[in-house]
Amino acid sequence: MRFRKLKIVLISSFVVLAVVLAIVVLQKLLEKNSGGIRNIIDNLVDNQETATVDAFLLSDSITKDYLTVNEYSRPGRALKEVNAIVVHYVGNPGTTAAQNRSYFENLKDSHAASASSHFIIGLEGEIIQCVPLDEISYASNDRNYDTIAIECCHPDETGQFTTATYQSLVKLTASLCKTYGLNPEDGIIRHYDVTGKYCPLYYVNNEDEWYGFKLDVKAEME
Ligand SMILES: [Zn+2]
Repeated sequence: MRFRKLKIVLISSFVVLAVVLAIVVLQKLLEKNSGGIRNIIDNLVDNQETATVDAFLLSDSITKDYLTVNEYSRPGRALKEVNAIVVHYVGNPGTTAAQNRSYFENLKDSHAASASSHFIIGLEGEIIQCVPLDEISYASNDRNYDTIAIECCHPDETGQFTTATYQSLVKLTASLCKTYGLNPEDGIIRHYDVTGKYCPLYYVNNEDEWYGFKLDVKAEME
C-alpha cells in the first residue's frame, strides 16, 4: 500500500516535470520564430557585424516578397559580407517588377536558369525585395558571395531607366551604402564591372551617366 502511494507520487512528479520542461522548450522555440523584422536585424548583426540597418530598408517603400527557397533562385546560403552593391538591368523591355519576380520564382519549377536578385525596381519606381539581405542571390557571378544585387526594369531597348525607377534606385543604393558603410565611388558597381556583360546596358554605353548616378547616391547619403 505504502509502496503504491510512493510510486504514484513519483510518477506524478515526473509527469509534472516533463510538462514544465515541454512548456519551457516550446516557449523558447516560439521566441526564436517570432518577430520577423527583429530576426532579420539580429541575423544581419550576427552575420554582417558592422551593419546598422538604415530605416529606408525597413520602410513601406519596399515590398518584401521573398522567393521560395530553392536551388535555382534562392539557395538560402548565407551572405557573410557585403563589399559592393551591383546594379543590373532586366534586359526585357517593358516588363514589370512583379513579372520579373515571378520569373525568378518560377525557376524553382522550370529549372531554366539560375537567377535572382535581392531587389527589383519597377517602371513606376516600386521596389520588391526577393531575397533577404543575409542570403546570397544569383545575379553577379563571382561576386554573389559579397554583394547585394539590384535589378532595374526599363521601358525600351536602350536600357535607360524611367525617372521613377532612377529615383528609387538612388534612394535604395544610398540606404544600402549607409547600412554597409560603403563609399559610392568603389562600393557601387555594374554587372559589367564583374564580367564585362553589357549590364546595365545604358550605364555601360553612357559612362558619364554612371558617374552622375554615383554622385546622386553620394548626395542622397548626406
Ligand atoms: Zn546583370
